[in-house]
Amino acid sequence: MVWWKCSNCGYIFEGEAGKVPEKCPNCGEICTFYDVSCYTPECGFEGYDPKIAGRRQEESRL
Ligand SMILES: [Zn+2]
Repeated sequence: MVWWKCSNCGYIFEGEAGKVPEKCPNCGEICTFYDVSCYTPECGFEGYDPKIAGRRQEESRL
């Protein structure tokens, strides 16, 4: 599973790996989704990485 983050509203949700969602389930927009899954062993490869999610949120504000 992969954690996606909506570039429009910042909503983070779980989805299928390799399958980018068409629409955001939160805002319903067709937008860019960032893969914010945690790939470090500390979290057991489960869940999203708050560091990545936070950084990407700041990038999206630029
Ligand atoms: Zn959204």
